[in-house]
Amino acid sequence: MKYNIFSLARNARTYHQDWTRAWRSPEPKPEYEAIIVGGGGHGLATAYYLAKECGVRSVAVLEKGWLGGGNTGRNTTIVRSNYLWDESAAIYEHSVKLWEGLSQDLNFNVMFSQRGLLHLAHTVHDLQEIGRRGHAIWLNGIDSEFLDVDQVREMVPLMNVNGRYPVLGALLQRRGGTARHDAVAWGYARKADEMGVDIIQNCAVTGFDIQNGVVKGVETTRGRIAAKKVGVVAAGHSSVLAEIAGFRMPLESVPLQALVSEPVKPCIDTVIMSNAVHVYLSQSDKGELVVGAGSDAYISYAQRGGFDVLEHIMGPLVELFPFVSRLRMLRQWGGIVDVTVDRSPILSKTPVENLFFNCGWGTGGFKCTPGSGHVFAHSIANGEMHPIAAPFSIDRFHTGALIDEGAAAAVAH
Ligand SMILES: Cc1cc2nc3c(=O)[nH]c(=O)nc-3n(C[C@H](O)[C@H](O)[C@H](O)COP(=O)(O)OP(=O)(O)OC[C@H]3O[C@@H](n4cnc5c(N)ncnc54)[C@H](O)[C@@H]3O)c2cc1C
Repeated sequence: MKYNIFSLARNARTYHQDWTRAWRSPEPKPEYEAIIVGGGGHGLATAYYLAKECGVRSVAVLEKGWLGGGNTGRNTTIVRSNYLWDESAAIYEHSVKLWEGLSQDLNFNVMFSQRGLLHLAHTVHDLQEIGRRGHAIWLNGIDSEFLDVDQVREMVPLMNVNGRYPVLGALLQRRGGTARHDAVAWGYARKADEMGVDIIQNCAVTGFDIQNGVVKGVETTRGRIAAKKVGVVAAGHSSVLAEIAGFRMPLESVPLQALVSEPVKPCIDTVIMSNAVHVYLSQSDKGELVVGAGSDAYISYAQRGGFDVLEHIMGPLVELFPFVSRLRMLRQWGGIVDVTVDRSPILSKTPVENLFFNCGWGTGGFKCTPGSGHVFAHSIANGEMHPIAAPFSIDRFHTGALIDEGAAAAVAH
């Protein structure tokens, strides 16, 4: 059913009792053309683009819990494409362009809000870093502006620019912003389902059927399902699945935390990030301040983080935004992020034929949900990595051709 003013009016007549379900809950079929493991945003986007653009409609998305219950539903929703290296610029900008038409494409309001994003500079070194990165971004044809401290103060009057962490300037990407995380998963799920994709929740993949080095299907908690191709998009659990398939993924899984305040009237209309003191902040449409904290310093699969990390974020946060000291923090949660040594993702073929992995998005993959799904779908369909995805192959950890975004992505998001 198309969502529009007419369907809204029609359903109002029956007190909104007759809306069709956004997606079905089918039983798994014995066989599919392609199976996607993981029903987060990236997995659902992959299934959607497989069906929509690659003509592969016999697709199942297998999710061990509920849709978007992983990092997709736990992140602070920052979207940007202002990365340092050409390879990163290509994939993140591809994604931002897809974000710009996504609500129309999915007929679902993903609440993409290009409210601008500021990277603060507190030291001369910060100024040099944003200077270098800003120019690299320009060279890739992506929008980027330098602001002096007066311009920053004008944009964010509530920020204390003369405190313990003086603000010297900022890098601004006006096309950056936020989107509604759940809506992204639901929008992709609904459209993929409409095109025949089976979305199967509460179905964990426990093994791979590999014969003579070729994947033939998966073992699940709901039985064996055959498939010609399998794409694993399981974020924090990717290395666990790789181990089951018989190879190692160069990933570490750590908890990353976020928190929200009580809702207040609109007071911050942009996204603010400070790599140096590790604060990032935006205001949700409900009025809550959405605050990103850091990741724990140790590997874990518990979807909650250490209290010390929260304490660490509150100090600089209150220093930069003194009014926050009078707000109650309502909720705090954690997600398990899969981090690579160069802080760039892995989109790759694997030693097992027809088994593809899309992982390593670490602390910053939400922004690339459309772009990653799009290029991964084309890679699975064609059996060859899409040109935008090719540099993110697992081979780079052997060849040394790393895409080191460690500095640009120093703040976890
Ligand atoms: C606190 C926090 C803040 C963040 N902030 C930002 C941000 O501001 N901007 C940004 O760009 N990114 C951010 N991120 C990172 C971002 O959330 C992730 O990179 C992104 O959501 C990954 O999407 P995904 O679909 O790959 O993973 P997920 O949404 O985690 O989906 C993976 C799915 O795989 C399922 N799965 C795992 N194992 C199995 C199995 N064996 N069988 C079946 N299913 C399985 C899981 O249940 C899960 O639903 C943040 C992350 C966290 C935790």
